[in-house]
Amino acid sequence: MSKDFDAFFRSREARRFYEDGPPHWIENEGKRYAKPSSTAKDAEIQKAKLVERLSTSTDTRARELGRILAACSVLSRCRSGACPCDNRALQRWFVDEVSGLAGVAEGEWSAISIVPTFGTFPVVDAPRDALKTFADLIKQLITGAGIDRAIIGIDPNFNEHAEGKFERHGQLQAWLLVRSEVLTKDVRRRLRRLLNKSATHLKPLVIKPYDGRLNGAAYALKHKFFRRVTTPPKKNDDGATVERQNSRPSRKPRVQQEVALSLLLHEAGPQGRLILHGWKLFNPQSRTEIKTTNKGEQQM
Ligand SMILES: [Zn+2]
Repeated sequence: MSKDFDAFFRSREARRFYEDGPPHWIENEGKRYAKPSSTAKDAEIQKAKLVERLSTSTDTRARELGRILAACSVLSRCRSGACPCDNRALQRWFVDEVSGLAGVAEGEWSAISIVPTFGTFPVVDAPRDALKTFADLIKQLITGAGIDRAIIGIDPNFNEHAEGKFERHGQLQAWLLVRSEVLTKDVRRRLRRLLNKSATHLKPLVIKPYDGRLNGAAYALKHKFFRRVTTPPKKNDDGATVERQNSRPSRKPRVQQEVALSLLLHEAGPQGRLILHGWKLFNPQSRTEIKTTNKGEQQM
Protein backbone atom coordinates (compact mmCIF):
# COMPACT_ATOMS: atom_id res chain seq x y z
CA MET A 1 0.00 0.00 0.00
CA SER A 2 1.26 3.45 -0.84
CA LYS A 3 1.94 5.68 2.17
CA ASP A 4 0.90 8.67 0.06
CA PHE A 5 -2.43 7.11 -0.67
CA ASP A 6 -2.99 6.23 2.96
CA ALA A 7 -2.10 9.80 3.95
CA PHE A 8 -4.53 11.11 1.33
CA PHE A 9 -7.33 9.01 2.73
CA ARG A 10 -6.71 10.39 6.20
CA SER A 11 -6.72 13.96 4.90
CA ARG A 12 -9.45 16.59 5.11
CA GLU A 13 -9.76 16.50 1.30
CA ALA A 14 -10.73 12.82 1.36
CA ARG A 15 -13.51 13.38 3.88
CA ARG A 16 -15.97 14.21 1.13
CA PHE A 17 -15.80 10.63 -0.13
CA TYR A 18 -17.17 9.44 3.23
CA GLU A 19 -20.02 11.95 2.98
CA ASP A 20 -23.06 12.19 0.69
CA GLY A 21 -22.08 14.71 -1.99
CA PRO A 22 -21.28 13.72 -5.61
CA PRO A 23 -20.49 11.36 -7.27
CA HIS A 24 -23.93 9.69 -7.39
CA TRP A 25 -25.10 6.90 -9.65
CA ILE A 26 -27.77 4.21 -9.96
CA GLU A 27 -26.80 0.69 -8.91
CA ASN A 28 -28.14 -2.08 -11.18
CA GLU A 29 -29.50 0.52 -13.59
CA GLY A 30 -32.34 -0.75 -15.78
CA LYS A 31 -32.98 -3.75 -13.51
CA ARG A 32 -35.92 -4.41 -11.22
CA TYR A 33 -33.75 -3.91 -8.14
CA ALA A 34 -32.14 -0.66 -9.36
CA LYS A 35 -31.52 1.91 -6.61
CA PRO A 36 -29.43 5.00 -5.91
CA SER A 37 -25.80 4.49 -4.83
CA SER A 38 -25.45 4.01 -1.08
CA THR A 39 -25.39 6.84 1.43
CA ALA A 40 -23.04 7.22 4.37
CA LYS A 41 -25.87 6.00 6.60
CA ASP A 42 -26.39 2.89 4.41
CA ALA A 43 -22.71 2.04 4.84
CA GLU A 44 -22.95 2.55 8.62
CA ILE A 45 -25.93 0.17 8.77
CA GLN A 46 -24.08 -2.36 6.61
CA LYS A 47 -21.07 -2.07 8.94
CA ALA A 48 -23.22 -2.52 12.07
CA LYS A 49 -24.73 -5.73 10.64
CA LEU A 50 -21.29 -7.02 9.70
CA VAL A 51 -19.92 -6.21 13.17
CA GLU A 52 -22.77 -8.22 14.70
CA ARG A 53 -21.96 -11.25 12.53
CA LEU A 54 -18.23 -11.02 13.17
CA SER A 55 -18.68 -10.54 16.91
CA THR A 56 -20.74 -13.74 17.27
CA SER A 57 -18.33 -15.84 15.17
CA THR A 58 -16.46 -18.74 16.77
CA ASP A 59 -13.30 -17.56 14.94
CA THR A 60 -11.10 -15.36 17.14
CA ARG A 61 -9.75 -13.46 14.08
CA ALA A 62 -13.31 -12.63 13.05
CA ARG A 63 -14.17 -11.34 16.54
CA GLU A 64 -11.01 -9.19 16.53
CA LEU A 65 -12.01 -7.78 13.11
CA GLY A 66 -15.45 -7.06 14.53
CA ARG A 67 -13.82 -4.92 17.24
CA ILE A 68 -11.73 -3.04 14.64
CA LEU A 69 -14.78 -2.23 12.50
CA ALA A 70 -16.87 -1.29 15.54
CA ALA A 71 -14.24 1.33 16.49
CA CYS A 72 -14.37 2.94 13.00
CA SER A 73 -16.05 6.34 13.17
CA VAL A 74 -16.05 9.83 11.68
CA LEU A 75 -13.30 10.71 14.18
CA SER A 76 -11.01 7.83 13.28
CA ARG A 77 -11.47 5.53 10.32
CA CYS A 78 -10.29 1.93 10.63
CA ARG A 79 -9.03 1.66 7.01
CA SER A 80 -9.76 -2.05 6.93
CA GLY A 81 -10.34 -3.65 3.53
CA ALA A 82 -13.43 -5.24 5.09
CA CYS A 83 -15.03 -1.98 6.28
CA PRO A 84 -18.13 -0.92 4.30
CA CYS A 85 -17.58 2.77 5.21
CA ASP A 86 -13.95 2.84 4.06
CA ASN A 87 -14.72 0.72 1.00
CA ARG A 88 -17.52 3.09 0.04
CA ALA A 89 -15.16 6.06 0.29
CA LEU A 90 -12.53 4.28 -1.83
CA GLN A 91 -15.18 3.36 -4.39
CA ARG A 92 -16.46 6.96 -4.58
CA TRP A 93 -12.91 8.28 -4.99
CA PHE A 94 -12.32 5.68 -7.73
CA VAL A 95 -15.53 6.62 -9.58
CA ASP A 96 -14.57 10.28 -9.37
CA GLU A 97 -11.08 9.57 -10.75
CA VAL A 98 -12.22 7.28 -13.56
CA SER A 99 -14.84 9.77 -14.76
CA GLY A 100 -12.04 12.33 -15.14
CA LEU A 101 -9.63 10.12 -17.13
CA ALA A 102 -8.71 11.44 -20.56
CA GLY A 103 -10.91 9.92 -23.25
CA VAL A 104 -13.52 8.35 -20.91
CA ALA A 105 -16.22 10.85 -21.83
CA GLU A 106 -15.33 10.40 -25.51
CA GLY A 107 -15.83 6.61 -25.39
CA GLU A 108 -12.16 5.75 -25.86
CA TRP A 109 -12.12 3.08 -23.13
CA SER A 110 -13.31 -0.51 -22.85
CA ALA A 111 -14.43 -2.57 -19.87
CA ILE A 112 -13.30 -6.18 -19.54
CA SER A 113 -14.72 -8.74 -17.14
CA ILE A 114 -12.49 -11.73 -16.38
CA VAL A 115 -13.85 -14.64 -14.32
CA PRO A 116 -11.06 -17.23 -14.45
CA THR A 117 -11.00 -20.71 -12.94
CA PHE A 118 -7.95 -19.66 -10.90
CA GLY A 119 -10.17 -17.09 -9.17
CA THR A 120 -12.09 -19.71 -7.19
CA PHE A 121 -11.41 -20.04 -3.49
CA PRO A 122 -12.79 -22.30 -0.74
CA VAL A 123 -15.00 -20.60 1.83
CA VAL A 124 -13.54 -22.66 4.66
CA ASP A 125 -9.78 -22.20 5.12
CA ALA A 126 -9.34 -19.85 2.16
CA PRO A 127 -5.65 -18.94 1.66
CA ARG A 128 -5.09 -15.66 3.52
CA ASP A 129 -3.32 -14.09 0.55
CA ALA A 130 -6.00 -15.13 -1.99
CA LEU A 131 -6.52 -11.59 -3.31
CA LYS A 132 -2.81 -10.87 -3.71
CA THR A 133 -2.25 -14.18 -5.53
CA PHE A 134 -5.23 -13.45 -7.79
CA ALA A 135 -3.97 -9.94 -8.54
CA ASP A 136 -0.55 -11.33 -9.50
CA LEU A 137 -2.07 -13.96 -11.79
CA ILE A 138 -4.36 -11.42 -13.48
CA LYS A 139 -1.39 -9.13 -14.14
CA GLN A 140 0.54 -12.08 -15.61
CA LEU A 141 -2.45 -13.08 -17.74
CA ILE A 142 -3.10 -9.67 -19.26
CA THR A 143 0.61 -9.02 -19.74
CA GLY A 144 0.77 -12.36 -21.59
CA ALA A 145 -2.11 -11.21 -23.78
CA GLY A 146 -0.29 -7.97 -24.59
CA ILE A 147 -2.04 -5.50 -22.25
CA ASP A 148 0.53 -3.38 -20.43
CA ARG A 149 -1.83 -0.80 -18.95
CA ALA A 150 -5.08 -1.40 -17.10
CA ILE A 151 -6.99 -0.12 -14.10
CA ILE A 152 -8.28 -3.21 -12.31
CA GLY A 153 -10.85 -3.80 -9.59
CA ILE A 154 -11.22 -7.19 -7.90
CA ASP A 155 -14.79 -8.18 -7.12
CA PRO A 156 -15.35 -11.19 -4.83
CA ASN A 157 -18.59 -13.19 -4.89
CA PHE A 158 -19.91 -16.70 -4.25
CA ASN A 159 -21.15 -19.34 -6.66
CA GLU A 160 -23.42 -22.28 -6.13
CA HIS A 161 -25.61 -24.60 -8.18
CA ALA A 162 -29.33 -24.83 -7.39
CA GLU A 163 -29.10 -28.63 -7.60
CA GLY A 164 -25.65 -28.99 -6.04
CA LYS A 165 -23.94 -29.93 -9.33
CA PHE A 166 -20.75 -28.28 -8.13
CA GLU A 167 -19.29 -27.38 -4.72
CA ARG A 168 -20.15 -23.96 -3.35
CA HIS A 169 -17.13 -21.72 -3.78
CA GLY A 170 -15.93 -18.16 -3.66
CA GLN A 171 -15.08 -16.50 -6.96
CA LEU A 172 -12.84 -13.52 -7.63
CA GLN A 173 -13.67 -11.51 -10.72
CA ALA A 174 -11.43 -8.87 -12.30
CA TRP A 175 -12.97 -5.73 -13.83
CA LEU A 176 -10.55 -3.96 -16.10
CA LEU A 177 -10.67 -0.57 -17.71
CA VAL A 178 -8.33 -0.20 -20.66
CA ARG A 179 -7.96 2.22 -23.50
CA SER A 180 -9.75 0.56 -26.45
CA GLU A 181 -6.74 1.06 -28.71
CA VAL A 182 -4.83 -1.66 -26.83
CA LEU A 183 -7.53 -4.23 -27.66
CA THR A 184 -6.23 -5.23 -31.06
CA LYS A 185 -7.51 -8.38 -32.78
CA ASP A 186 -4.39 -10.14 -31.65
CA VAL A 187 -4.84 -9.15 -28.00
CA ARG A 188 -8.51 -10.22 -28.03
CA ARG A 189 -7.56 -13.58 -29.55
CA ARG A 190 -4.88 -14.18 -26.93
CA LEU A 191 -7.28 -13.29 -24.11
CA ARG A 192 -9.89 -15.74 -25.46
CA ARG A 193 -7.26 -18.45 -25.74
CA LEU A 194 -6.17 -17.93 -22.13
CA LEU A 195 -9.72 -17.97 -20.72
CA ASN A 196 -11.70 -21.12 -21.45
CA LYS A 197 -15.37 -21.74 -20.71
CA SER A 198 -16.24 -24.49 -18.23
CA ALA A 199 -19.29 -25.78 -16.34
CA THR A 200 -18.59 -23.36 -13.49
CA HIS A 201 -17.26 -20.53 -15.68
CA LEU A 202 -19.79 -19.86 -18.42
CA LYS A 203 -18.56 -16.36 -19.23
CA PRO A 204 -14.85 -16.17 -18.37
CA LEU A 205 -14.30 -13.17 -20.64
CA VAL A 206 -16.59 -10.28 -21.62
CA ILE A 207 -15.31 -7.20 -23.44
CA LYS A 208 -17.54 -4.16 -23.91
CA PRO A 209 -17.02 -0.54 -24.87
CA TYR A 210 -17.07 1.55 -21.66
CA ASP A 211 -19.76 4.17 -21.99
CA GLY A 212 -18.27 6.27 -19.20
CA ARG A 213 -21.26 5.91 -16.90
CA LEU A 214 -20.40 6.13 -13.22
CA ASN A 215 -22.11 2.87 -12.28
CA GLY A 216 -19.70 0.99 -14.58
CA ALA A 217 -16.67 2.22 -12.67
CA ALA A 218 -18.47 1.76 -9.34
CA TYR A 219 -19.08 -1.90 -10.06
CA ALA A 220 -15.34 -2.63 -10.12
CA LEU A 221 -15.12 -1.78 -6.40
CA LYS A 222 -18.62 -2.48 -5.14
CA HIS A 223 -18.88 -3.12 -1.41
CA LYS A 224 -21.97 -5.29 -1.36
CA PHE A 225 -21.41 -8.89 -2.37
CA PHE A 226 -23.76 -11.61 -3.58
CA ARG A 227 -24.28 -15.30 -4.20
CA ARG A 228 -24.62 -16.32 -7.82
CA VAL A 229 -26.95 -19.29 -8.18
CA THR A 230 -26.76 -21.40 -11.35
CA THR A 231 -30.04 -23.03 -12.35
CA PRO A 232 -30.18 -25.91 -14.87
CA PRO A 233 -32.00 -25.55 -18.22
CA LYS A 234 -35.80 -26.05 -18.06
CA LYS A 235 -37.35 -28.39 -20.62
CA ASN A 236 -40.98 -28.94 -21.57
CA ASP A 237 -42.65 -32.39 -21.92
CA ASP A 238 -41.32 -32.73 -25.47
CA GLY A 239 -37.75 -32.25 -24.25
CA ALA A 240 -37.38 -28.84 -25.86
CA THR A 241 -35.48 -26.24 -23.81
CA VAL A 242 -37.84 -23.49 -22.64
CA GLU A 243 -35.32 -21.76 -20.41
CA ARG A 244 -31.57 -21.97 -20.84
CA GLN A 245 -29.13 -22.65 -18.02
CA ASN A 246 -28.88 -19.46 -16.05
CA SER A 247 -26.56 -17.92 -13.54
CA ARG A 248 -27.98 -15.04 -11.57
CA PRO A 249 -26.47 -12.91 -8.82
CA SER A 250 -29.59 -13.20 -6.73
CA ARG A 251 -28.88 -13.85 -3.07
CA LYS A 252 -26.98 -12.33 -0.20
CA PRO A 253 -23.92 -14.31 0.96
CA ARG A 254 -24.41 -16.80 3.78
CA VAL A 255 -23.12 -15.69 7.21
CA GLN A 256 -20.11 -18.02 7.05
CA GLN A 257 -19.26 -16.71 3.56
CA GLU A 258 -19.54 -13.10 4.69
CA VAL A 259 -17.23 -13.73 7.64
CA ALA A 260 -14.65 -15.57 5.48
CA LEU A 261 -14.72 -12.83 2.85
CA SER A 262 -14.35 -10.08 5.45
CA LEU A 263 -11.19 -11.78 6.75
CA LEU A 264 -9.78 -12.01 3.21
CA LEU A 265 -10.53 -8.35 2.50
CA HIS A 266 -9.04 -7.27 5.82
CA GLU A 267 -5.92 -9.31 5.07
CA ALA A 268 -5.63 -7.70 1.60
CA GLY A 269 -5.64 -4.20 3.10
CA PRO A 270 -7.58 -1.04 2.24
CA GLN A 271 -6.58 -0.94 -1.44
CA GLY A 272 -6.12 -4.68 -1.92
CA ARG A 273 -8.90 -4.77 -4.50
CA LEU A 274 -7.47 -2.02 -6.69
CA ILE A 275 -4.56 -2.70 -9.04
CA LEU A 276 -2.98 -0.04 -11.16
CA HIS A 277 -1.17 -1.91 -13.92
CA GLY A 278 0.95 0.58 -15.85
CA TRP A 279 -0.70 3.46 -13.97
CA LYS A 280 0.32 5.19 -10.77
CA LEU A 281 -0.94 7.64 -8.22
CA PHE A 282 0.13 11.19 -8.78
CA ASN A 283 0.31 14.42 -6.84
CA PRO A 284 -0.66 13.01 -3.47
CA GLN A 285 0.14 16.27 -1.66
CA SER A 286 -2.95 18.08 -2.79
CA ARG A 287 -5.13 15.49 -4.43
CA THR A 288 -4.66 11.85 -5.32
CA GLU A 289 -5.16 11.10 -8.97
CA ILE A 290 -4.66 8.17 -11.30
CA LYS A 291 -2.04 9.01 -13.94
CA THR A 292 -0.31 7.02 -16.59
CA THR A 293 3.30 5.96 -16.16
CA ASN A 294 5.80 4.98 -18.79
CA LYS A 295 7.30 2.38 -16.53
CA GLY A 296 5.81 -1.05 -16.03
CA GLU A 297 3.20 -2.09 -13.57
CA GLN A 298 2.65 -0.58 -10.20
CA GLN A 299 0.35 -1.48 -7.39
CA MET A 300 -0.62 0.96 -4.69
ZN1 LIG B 1 -13.69 1.68 8.68
